[in-house]
Amino acid sequence: MSAKKANLSGELKKYFGFSTFKGQQELIIQELLEGKDIFVLMPTGGGKSLCYQLPALISEGTAIVVSPLIALMKNQVDAVNGLSSENGIAHVLNSSLNKTQTKQVFDDIKSGKTKLLYVAPESLIKEDYLEFFRDVKISFVAIDEAHCISEWGHDFRPEYRNLKSIIDKIADVPVIALTATATPKVQDDIQKTLGMTDALVFKESFNRANLYYEVRPKVNVDKEIVKFINKHKGKSGIVYCLSRRKVEEFAQLLQVNGINALPYHAGLDQKVRVTNQDKFLMEEADVIVATIAFGMGIDKPDVRFVIHYDFPKSLESYYQETGRAGRDGGEGHCLAFYDPKDIEKLEKFLAQKPVSEREIGLQLLNEVVGYAETSMSRRQYILYYFGETFDPVNGEGAKMCDNASNPPKLKDASEDLKKVLKLIQETSEKFKSKDLISVIVGKENAVTKSYKLEQTSFFGFGKHEKDNYWKTILRQATVQNFLQKDIETYGVLKISPKGREVLDGKFKDSFLIAEDREFDLSQTKADSDQVQMQASGSLDQNLFGQLKELRKKVAKKCGIPPYTVFMDPSLEDMTVQYPITVEEITKIYGVGEGKAKKYGKEFADFISKYVEDNNIERTQDMVLKNVANKSSHKVFIIQSTDKKIDLEDIARAKNLSMNDLLKEMERIVYQGTKLNIDYYIEENFDEDMVDEFMEFMTESESDSMKVLLDEFGDELSDEEVRMLRIKFISDVAN
Ligand code: ADP
Ligand code: MG
Repeated sequence: MSAKKANLSGELKKYFGFSTFKGQQELIIQELLEGKDIFVLMPTGGGKSLCYQLPALISEGTAIVVSPLIALMKNQVDAVNGLSSENGIAHVLNSSLNKTQTKQVFDDIKSGKTKLLYVAPESLIKEDYLEFFRDVKISFVAIDEAHCISEWGHDFRPEYRNLKSIIDKIADVPVIALTATATPKVQDDIQKTLGMTDALVFKESFNRANLYYEVRPKVNVDKEIVKFINKHKGKSGIVYCLSRRKVEEFAQLLQVNGINALPYHAGLDQKVRVTNQDKFLMEEADVIVATIAFGMGIDKPDVRFVIHYDFPKSLESYYQETGRAGRDGGEGHCLAFYDPKDIEKLEKFLAQKPVSEREIGLQLLNEVVGYAETSMSRRQYILYYFGETFDPVNGEGAKMCDNASNPPKLKDASEDLKKVLKLIQETSEKFKSKDLISVIVGKENAVTKSYKLEQTSFFGFGKHEKDNYWKTILRQATVQNFLQKDIETYGVLKISPKGREVLDGKFKDSFLIAEDREFDLSQTKADSDQVQMQASGSLDQNLFGQLKELRKKVAKKCGIPPYTVFMDPSLEDMTVQYPITVEEITKIYGVGEGKAKKYGKEFADFISKYVEDNNIERTQDMVLKNVANKSSHKVFIIQSTDKKIDLEDIARAKNLSMNDLLKEMERIVYQGTKLNIDYYIEENFDEDMVDEFMEFMTESESDSMKVLLDEFGDELSDEEVRMLRIKFISDVAN
């Protein structure tokens, strides 16, 4: 045995150039070579590939490696082929190969040249392949990313489920399954499905001691993230969003804020995806904004932060995604933004799924909420989830989370829990969280009315506390398993056996909640850009007045109405941000480059002087620039109007209501971009009417709808007024 050991180290050096094995690699390889079935659970970056690559290289015959992604296989095959001067040591077998290529692969296997054959599970089923495999020597089968077998994993792939029967058809050889997902449930599922309950299990700790875990309430999230990235300028990072649309929007937002970011999601053209990924790897882009489609097999060692714009659907995903930070053992900040409403949305989405999937999905989400709201060591929470105990005081990395470095105050809410449970009991366990809270704080709604809950003695018993407090109690009671969300009547809260113990006075522990953690702040969240900008600081009324004067002066000089220079919200934003250069003016709300060029200098100079005279310290707070138009409609609208397409048709093409289209058009012209809709106006309006309107606007002090409707409301509809106003702003101001 010891001879073999020495031998293995030699082979390691020879093929990979490493002088020592990582973790349990050597043991694993030995056992596999002895013919045992093996199950490897190792965190990402642990060195799983080598556990099957090395034995394959030194064994007789070909090892079949099952792996879920074709793109990943290619990388691995290239890497293995790079280890040797000969060609054909590793091959991929899939439907993309033509006849000649497939024959080459088969020939290389027959001649004994090929040591590793990578296949996707769906290719493995092909009858001709199976027949071929039965005729050649197979050394063993490796199943990488084995969690894909399990519905409890974060990346379930149905094709994986039949692997066992396929392998049995090929040969009686050892199987090594590998994964970085290690919840006891997934582990059990994998072993059972693959029929390898007797396999030797090698599990390494999932603790990533160099990662810092933090959860923040999702408030002003765009700005928070821009700020965070600016603080880590030049470092590599990933921002995960749940939807493709969000990915594109947010990548754009980062770009206009001067951050070198690129989007990545499965809906992008293959070429674009590859380019963006390469740019990130080559450090031509600092940040990649991505859906979960990004990251599997990405081996960039120095990713310094992983931000979750949206919370993922399971803790496994969260662990996988954050695991991409700090693979080199250096800094890795994992920051997630949490809003309970996001989780509710995900729950609603689940409601449409088949029952089994729904049940799993809800439980996974419940764990996510538990993690987000926990006041304990986040590392301990994650590791516990993976079936590992962790000492939150002395464990490695114990200080590395927000709860450890800034512990929340805990409050004993046992009495309130009891009251809530009693309420649920007395109302026969038939209400959802939302309605229970209405009852607790004494707010009527349709449900409370139809059940006449206003007349009960408990109506409003908790009105001395805010809604959010009770929401936290209900959520925490669910997370801590005093309550269960009913699956069938989706969302209805029922009392669990543990909850019954509380009611019967048999439960002796206390029910603790973090007092100073408020996550449910979404109603204070600014929903329009404008409000968000204003919220970032307070309005300087004095400057606002002076800027209005300046605007009047400039307008007069140019012979145009003041509001066509900059709109009020733009001036307001200036009084918050104090821009002192033309470049900074372009970052002001509602200001495009055209306008900044035309009028920016005068305003910047004025503000600069004002700032100096009044000793104003400009906030170091960054200025968040919003993407000019959130949608990609801007270009489309400009192009379409250039082609003189009817507004109705433009709206229809983009599935917009006329109201939405007009809103977009207003945004475009108010930002200083020309939009020529004369063709439409000529066709649809009376010429004299148009002249009269233009004349009026030229004289008018205001462009508000109220003023315009007072004047023209009898002759023109709202929409018509807005159309003419668009023409006017476009003609005169731009
Ligand atoms: P996993 O699949 O577990 O995420 P990989 O197999 O991709 O991990 O390996 C992660 C990194 O560790 C790779 O860069 C690999 O070259 C490196 N590695 C693996 N084994 C060793 C070793 N014995 N010594 C040094 N580096 C190793
Ligand atoms: Mg791997």
